[in-house]
Amino acid sequence: MKLKSIKDKFYEELSGTYGQNEASSFFYILCDSFLELSKVNVVLNYDSNLNEEQVNSFINALSDLKDFKPIQYIVGNEEFYGLKFFVSKGVLIPRPETEELVSWIETDFKDKSPSILDIGSGSGCIPITLDKVILSSKVFSVDVSDKAIEIAKINAKENNSDVQFIKCDILRYEEEFKLDKCFDVIVSNPPYVTMNEMKLMKENVLDYEPHLALFVENNDPLIFYRTILELSESKLNTGGVVYFEINEHFPQEMIRLFEDFNFTDIELRKDFRGKPRMIKGRKN
Ligand code: GLN
Repeated sequence: MKLKSIKDKFYEELSGTYGQNEASSFFYILCDSFLELSKVNVVLNYDSNLNEEQVNSFINALSDLKDFKPIQYIVGNEEFYGLKFFVSKGVLIPRPETEELVSWIETDFKDKSPSILDIGSGSGCIPITLDKVILSSKVFSVDVSDKAIEIAKINAKENNSDVQFIKCDILRYEEEFKLDKCFDVIVSNPPYVTMNEMKLMKENVLDYEPHLALFVENNDPLIFYRTILELSESKLNTGGVVYFEINEHFPQEMIRLFEDFNFTDIELRKDFRGKPRMIKGRKN
């Protein structure tokens, strides 16, 4: 089968569901992953015949895409802040708004030597990137999921990073948090999507991404933030800063929460879509 025929098949079978542009971008991502062909070289290779294994890879990917499987899980990786992260079903796919959170911390701390604690490792994209971009940082990261820790450790190795990953259920930090030190920065992108919002989410997220990393109960949507601020009372140095990615629907509640814990210099930031999505505060 020729590459051009695969391309036509992709457009024909996916354009209805995803639209032309997305169908085309999936095709190019897969060409890069399966054939190591960049976009310009795809066109030059339209007449090349693919072997059976290559054809099967495309056909399987096509069927996965029709089932709304995210392209990142199909190719097994996603780029975050210029680094490559292996992803599979056990971890959330790194998102561009989280790059903005990392960028904020980089700007604030790039010339310092902070000790950083990340809560909710997932793929490891936040702690590993911070470790790479803030050269003299020391970074620790905890997650409740064994699978996440396993994947994050693979990503640390692949990216030559020495972040320490430790298993811990942060909601049970009094029993489980064992790190005997204080940090200059605590950062987290915890679960924050309420069960009510679940019905607004698309199949590609709902059917594939880990609910453990996404959802919180309607009656206590800030549970992770409150717990982390409680932990900060003993584990964050005075003058230290907490950074959170937040649910766009709770910015005022988040400011109030920081105030309840006597934090100062509280600052809310919008993401590239104009939604309030990040907040930081300083411990007095
Ligand atoms: N921003 C993610 C989403 O909308 C949610 C991330 C999270 O819950 N921490 O899918």
